[in-house]
Amino acid sequence: MISNVKTYPLEGKTQSYSWGGTQFIPELLGLEKNGKPYAEYWLGTHERGQADIVLPKGKTSLRNFLNTFKSGGVKASGLSFLFKVLDVKNMLSIQVHPSKESAKKEYLLENLQGIPIDHPERNFKDQNHKPEIMVALSEFWLLHGFLSEEKLLGRLREVPEFHELIPALQSDGIKGLYNKVMNQDFKERKRILKPIIERILPLYREGILSKTSADYWAAKAFIQFEENGDFDKGIYSIYFFNLVELKPGEGIYQPTGVPHAYLEGQNVELMANSDNVLRGGLTSKHIDVRQLLKHTKFQEIEPQIIRGTLKEDGMERIYACDVPDFQLSQIQILSSEIYCTTSTSSEILLVMEGDVAMREKNGALLVLSKGQSAFVECGCHYYLEARNSAVIFKAASGKT
Ligand SMILES: [Zn+2]
Repeated sequence: MISNVKTYPLEGKTQSYSWGGTQFIPELLGLEKNGKPYAEYWLGTHERGQADIVLPKGKTSLRNFLNTFKSGGVKASGLSFLFKVLDVKNMLSIQVHPSKESAKKEYLLENLQGIPIDHPERNFKDQNHKPEIMVALSEFWLLHGFLSEEKLLGRLREVPEFHELIPALQSDGIKGLYNKVMNQDFKERKRILKPIIERILPLYREGILSKTSADYWAAKAFIQFEENGDFDKGIYSIYFFNLVELKPGEGIYQPTGVPHAYLEGQNVELMANSDNVLRGGLTSKHIDVRQLLKHTKFQEIEPQIIRGTLKEDGMERIYACDVPDFQLSQIQILSSEIYCTTSTSSEILLVMEGDVAMREKNGALLVLSKGQSAFVECGCHYYLEARNSAVIFKAASGKT
């Protein structure tokens, strides 16, 4: 038996949220397609879906493994990051994530108010921030940050029903406009949104609208959330935020306070280990407009598409962002190449394409196929070889 093994097979957990697709994740993981939605696949130590590590004697949770078998350098709370694959068939909520300082404060406040941690109306589930970076695996559509004031003004002029909102933007800026629409009562909202929906719905159904148009997503949102019996306030955000299309391999980062929503597509996502989400529409989950507005940065955003930086080895592309909690990279290996590295933190590898042989310096060997993953301890020198060619995503801690 080889001693000091530092690489282990890892098995994540799927989440069957209703907005998920039924094909992509089962195909990736080799699961039976049973018609139920597979929205997310989690690889991490978050208590709502802990990955299992496979040891010679059997499986144990990764968190248990880190706490029991290894102690140095790993916090009792587990990894600093949570790694996911998402298949977004129907759009997700308009959301914003708090800063670490405000998460701490608000978490303690909700404790004092006696709101149980698993209560549906609890906003702050932990004391952490939740910045997120994602890389598209398909064409991917999302909303990301407010349009510039100039573009917003153009948008309000373009849509006749929005004309009456122009003074709010002109006198109180983005904050004034967004506060006004988010605090409207149902009657008021219906008066403005109903004629828009009546105009765009036939066009959507005839297939005339393009995905580059806010009208397309507003019509889709109306249909998706019609059963709530509501003209969803999230529809305003579709018109007021940047609509971004990513090609496969392109990434985007969601920093603290920037409102966003995923609309459609598949991606890998890496985030701080937190579940703090403040929602403002397009969801059947808890919405708290006051909290959403309190933690939103009302500033115009020019979306920055991250194409990553290829390392000197020509194989690893790093999608950098300035948080210490995580670093995401993509490793592309051709048949003649060997990728070689030493881990500087705990790592999780996920094979997206091809078959990979993972070898440690001491000879330990792990063979991983599409959809399979591995946990790597800090300070492990290892090599990756592909049978033909392979694509692997790597999650690690950032600079601490
Ligand atoms: Zn988010």
